[in-house]
Amino acid sequence: MEKLTIRDVDLKGKRVIMRVDFNVPIKDGVVSDDTRIVEAIPTIKYVLEQGAKVILLSHLGRPKGGPDPKYTLKPVAERLSQLLGKEVKFVPALYGEEVEKTVAELKEGEVLMLENTRFDPGEEKNDLELAKKWAALADIHVNDAFGTAHRAHSSNVGIAQYIPSVAGFLMEKEIKFLSKATYNPDKPYAVVLGGAKVSDKIGVITNLLNKADRIVIGGAMMFTFWKALGKQTGNSLVEEDKIDLAKQILEQAKEKGVEVVIPTDAVCAQKMEAGAEKKVFTCEEGIPEGWAGYDIGPASVELIKSKLADAKTIVWNGPLGVFEIPDFAEGTKAVAEFIASLTDKGVTTVVGGGDSAAAVSQFGLDKKFSHVSTGGGASLEFLEGKELPGIASIANKKK
Ligand code: AMP
Repeated sequence: MEKLTIRDVDLKGKRVIMRVDFNVPIKDGVVSDDTRIVEAIPTIKYVLEQGAKVILLSHLGRPKGGPDPKYTLKPVAERLSQLLGKEVKFVPALYGEEVEKTVAELKEGEVLMLENTRFDPGEEKNDLELAKKWAALADIHVNDAFGTAHRAHSSNVGIAQYIPSVAGFLMEKEIKFLSKATYNPDKPYAVVLGGAKVSDKIGVITNLLNKADRIVIGGAMMFTFWKALGKQTGNSLVEEDKIDLAKQILEQAKEKGVEVVIPTDAVCAQKMEAGAEKKVFTCEEGIPEGWAGYDIGPASVELIKSKLADAKTIVWNGPLGVFEIPDFAEGTKAVAEFIASLTDKGVTTVVGGGDSAAAVSQFGLDKKFSHVSTGGGASLEFLEGKELPGIASIANKKK
């Protein structure tokens, strides 16, 4: 179902309450990485240029259900003001007299930011009384916070019960690329899954067995599959209680004609630390006791590249090794660079958020994919084929 976006509605003179994702790192009262703010600028500028009055809502960090100066959005308002080149009013409250007064005085093209939405414990409970208070401030709601789309909160879902909600440009782009991959991928469709735990990725793998042509397994997850194949994994991270599940996945994949690509070698060490002695062990020979796999090996990198080379759609979610430590980042980097190189050849390349997005930015490849999702959990749930409450609440386009 196509969603209404800010392009589809008349914003002139309207009070627009916009849910953005300004959950940025703050150090000593200053924003230390403003990527998320920068990314929201096109949506905010467009709405302002249409002659709207903008009220911004965002959460920041995990305050424990009440105001906490550590998590104030004030530094974010200051940074946004610099980036927009105009004043951003800030009221350190979420509702009440001062908020109402400031909104009433807001002129077309002006911006107001309210305090951290999570300062009210109702936010995460999707409290409708809270949603109503925010809705009363505005005529229309713009949802540009994909990272929270898998959560039903007052500021993204509840509020849509009272005023119409439309998608901003970031949300629109997320829906476009993730829908394409999930419901209508150009084939062959290959998915690369890494990360620490099979249990986190089960839902996606199961759904992908009906959609993807190839599923590449990497990260610590691969060792649960090695175990399922009866191989030695030494001290590698294995989810013993998921070995049977891994076996089932392999059987189902065979029945459905989906190729599951399992790395054939691993870069191992006796300690997960920089500078540790490294050795490559193959799946066939197994990993001896005392050693653990922290990255895919060189043969696996070549195998994975060969399995991705003819794909028309590639989705990648989860690092293939412990990429935070440079000694174990090479496999993830090589595969990331290879996928990125296919973008210019007409392949749709999508990176799931979270750790893989962090890896991509660490390698300086952010701009080289068709789409780097801003939401880890949200993009996984999307790929699982689940309905996300924060997208369902956005108004549909009339046919
Ligand atoms: P996830 O949150 O499940 O996507 O897992 C991401 C984490 O998995 C990253 O912090 C990686 O360092 C970690 N990881 C990837 N491969 C391995 C491995 N072979 N052993 C231990 N941790 C790993």
